[in-house]
Amino acid sequence: MKNRPVAHITQAEHLNMGSTVVKQPLPTVKVEQVDPFLLLHHFGPTTTAPGSDPLDVGPHPHRGFEPVTFLYSGGIRHKDSRGNEGLLRGGDVQWMTAGLGIIHSERASREFLEAGGTMEGIQLWVNLPRKHKMAQPNYQDIKAAQIPEILEDNGKVRLRLVAGQYQGKKGPARTFTPILALQAELNTGGYVEVQIPEHFNALVYILRGEVQLNENFSYSGETMLHFKNEGAGFSLRAKADSQALILAGEPIGEPVAQWGPYVMNTQTEIMEAMRDYQMGKMGVYID
Ligand code: MN
Repeated sequence: MKNRPVAHITQAEHLNMGSTVVKQPLPTVKVEQVDPFLLLHHFGPTTTAPGSDPLDVGPHPHRGFEPVTFLYSGGIRHKDSRGNEGLLRGGDVQWMTAGLGIIHSERASREFLEAGGTMEGIQLWVNLPRKHKMAQPNYQDIKAAQIPEILEDNGKVRLRLVAGQYQGKKGPARTFTPILALQAELNTGGYVEVQIPEHFNALVYILRGEVQLNENFSYSGETMLHFKNEGAGFSLRAKADSQALILAGEPIGEPVAQWGPYVMNTQTEIMEAMRDYQMGKMGVYID
């Protein structure tokens, strides 16, 4: 296998959001996006006593993309302006299509509030192409048990296939453009060759541990590796027990106009989104 070389290495920036530290490896000054991936927020792990919410993200709108939550541990209750309510537990994934607009809140679940515990997750913003930006909002609440697992190197590497096709298996998430999303858990010494279609952009975000790339340099937690689109894939060898999120996708290749929670193609469309939100066209959220 010809390995993909690295285009950029980015260290996650730490942002304080309430009682939680959010680590942001994307975007950075060097890497604005890895088309179609716009933003990656790694929140936690934050351990709290009963009664306190390490998330507590109040009502806010979105338009023009898909916010995806990979919950590693804890519990999140999601509520929105269309009357939907959803619950995520550790291992679950919520693949949300904001599309034409939604107002929602993201808070600790009742269960988590009662017992306390450790909250950790990743929120990923996946862009939508122009023709789907105004799609009807939609949720895919994917339970941990629905996610197929692929074992490599005698089980020392476990890949959970959330989206896309891999080794004859299919991930449960439906996406508007071709995407591969794999949650990787590697035990010390575990080795895996990850195959990526050549026309896909690709990145790996290391949550924790230490991982050697292409039998060359090693990288530790809170690092994002963004690859050049040359070669059939890349190899990972765990130097310590590690966790990583592998993301690849067909680039959309359209102009990106972003302001806060809206991701459109032009500034005019951003203005329209702000106006539609003000006019209540994204619905009304009652907490
Ligand atoms: Mn949100």
